[in-house]
Amino acid sequence: MKLRKIIKVAIDSPSAAGAGSISRKIAKHYNLIYCDTGKIYRLLAYALMGKKINNKIKYLKKVSQKINLKKLQNKNLLNNEVAYVASQISKDIKVRKIVLKFQKKIAYNPPKKYNGSCLDGRDITHVIVPDAEFKFYITANLIERSKRRFKELKKLGQKVSFKEVLKSMRNRDQSDKTRRHSKLKITKDSHLINTTGLTIKGGFLKIKKIMDKKLKEKNGRNI
Ligand code: C5P
Repeated sequence: MKLRKIIKVAIDSPSAAGAGSISRKIAKHYNLIYCDTGKIYRLLAYALMGKKINNKIKYLKKVSQKINLKKLQNKNLLNNEVAYVASQISKDIKVRKIVLKFQKKIAYNPPKKYNGSCLDGRDITHVIVPDAEFKFYITANLIERSKRRFKELKKLGQKVSFKEVLKSMRNRDQSDKTRRHSKLKITKDSHLINTTGLTIKGGFLKIKKIMDKKLKEKNGRNI
């Protein structure tokens, strides 16, 4: 059986660095399936919140069997509390194992109509898609990221102060970068994209330039 050749784009980033919007643009431009993997942990967090559950892992396994890309678009996943619980449960290797297969399937076996996959998260470049030919670490300074997230939450009508957003962002960064398993880090083979002072389009164009150059070298063609 001939293996299908696909493009795999792996992106890691701290929260609100612009990775989601930029990844969506990349996915659209190169016709790739897109998955914001943070939403997977948020969905599990949301499923647990407000419930008294004895065996959380067993319950999350059940929830994970029904995950699909559409469910990840639920607007209820976009609040600070859900983000906090997501960052807590994602430290647990048992939780990470539960959602590994779902992510790998999207990355390595996208539906035929796509040219490949684009995933963003914290451990995509080194755990989920370590052999991706395109790896990026997207970041921006803490104040700018907090401003962006504050604006997003306000737009959604959520009652939250800038100070709270800044604090939760700082805590989440710390937790994501220092936890034992799948910590957020930049790998040697990732391109660093700093979006401080950049528009989404500006960030996208930086990545496009890198990707087009490599695709041209590899295939002698541009997409
Ligand atoms: O990206 P987002 O802010 O939605 O992610 C929520 C939380 O999920 C993060 O703070 C992080 O702890 C966790 N996460 C993770 N691995 C990923 C994506 C997100 O641990 N690949």
